[in-house]
Amino acid sequence: MTLRNGREFLAIPGPTTVPDEVLQAMHRPAIEIYAGALLDVTTSCLDDLRRIFRTEGRTYIYAANGHGAWEAALSNTLSRGDKVLTLGSGLFAPAWGEMAASQGLVVEELPASYRHAVDPAAVEARLRADTAGEIKAVLVVQVDTASSVVNDIPAIRRAIDAAGHPALYMVDAIASLGTMPFEMDAWGIDLAVTGSQKGLMTPPGLSFVAAGKRALAAHETADLRTFYWDWTQREGPRHYQKYCGTPPEHLLFGLRKAMDMLFEEGLPAVFERHRILAEATRRAVAVWAEGGALSFNVVEAEARANSVTTVLLDGHDPAAFLTYADKVCGVVLGIGIGDLTGKAFRIAHMGHVNAPMILGTLGVVETSLSALGIPHGKGGVQAAVDWLAEAAPAAEVAGGAGGLGTPRAAAPGE
Ligand SMILES: *Cc1c(COP(=O)(O)O)cnc(C)c1O
Repeated sequence: MTLRNGREFLAIPGPTTVPDEVLQAMHRPAIEIYAGALLDVTTSCLDDLRRIFRTEGRTYIYAANGHGAWEAALSNTLSRGDKVLTLGSGLFAPAWGEMAASQGLVVEELPASYRHAVDPAAVEARLRADTAGEIKAVLVVQVDTASSVVNDIPAIRRAIDAAGHPALYMVDAIASLGTMPFEMDAWGIDLAVTGSQKGLMTPPGLSFVAAGKRALAAHETADLRTFYWDWTQREGPRHYQKYCGTPPEHLLFGLRKAMDMLFEEGLPAVFERHRILAEATRRAVAVWAEGGALSFNVVEAEARANSVTTVLLDGHDPAAFLTYADKVCGVVLGIGIGDLTGKAFRIAHMGHVNAPMILGTLGVVETSLSALGIPHGKGGVQAAVDWLAEAAPAAEVAGGAGGLGTPRAAAPGE
């Protein structure tokens, strides 16, 4: 018996749901790569990425996933034997550090937890102690997708400044760009990376690096540079060099459409949508947690991200629960990863998501908890509904509440 036929809901924190408009924009023949329309697509994508990162710096597009952007970030700015400090809050900053070690960098991890955000005071203290200036870069993620911690990126910048330390500040915004504010220049970020397949609603396969003045200056002397990732190669006169070879055309068409959709909605509205839908999820989890078997992974409420929520499951097998949600109900939730393998599940609320997708997902979580006999407070979905009605009051809908009485015009072919 299954209730899953119909549209599957993908509620994993990447790749995320790709809008039909983005899929359609990709469904076209390949085109010439040396001249014509593709060159304009490249220029506009590089420019619009700067609008999303909020930087006057340079942007680079790689035919790669997020790990590729990590390697690009390190290899373009650092030299063999340089030390980097990773600020953990889950899986991903340490993983970036592991890559750094394999590239010949010396890696130091600031003591960290999956349950708390990075403590800016600890960063300041560690950097103050580095009187010899050995640390060349500080690596942190804005949202850790495993733990669902959101870090306070401007506060960490203030800590670096308070220590008077010159290290490059590098931020992984892979699970956050396009879901919450990110102000590369205003927050003093020297280098930022992201990928196509999370907040940017594009299929996996592209990643992006934004480099500010200090990162570009470091590039001049970095000895880890290799041809494929090298910014100088990519700044060459030929369009072909922007990708170090054949451009990933179809992904670029998709990205172009996805960014058009983000700008059409308006980034502040996109962030507000994420905030409200994330809070709906948290309201539901808080009620379920009253049953004693579930809890928020992230301890402090203000450190819970607006793109994903990690829920700890105590004394019950997440695998059986996840299988029920997927195979019976058609909702694919995220598994626990890293230290939370086998101990948690994750509800993504990132990218192309709306109220019915979130309410449907939360409804299936509650159904699955009931079906598997996992103790939980009743009424999580109701709490989410109540929150949405409060957060999106009828009076604020275009035209005021009165406007709600007018049915929308039928779309062509409807
Ligand atoms: C997904 C993710 C990555 C890794 O990206 P890939 O595209 O899988 O290589 C890195 N950092 C964060 C914060 C992520 O969420």
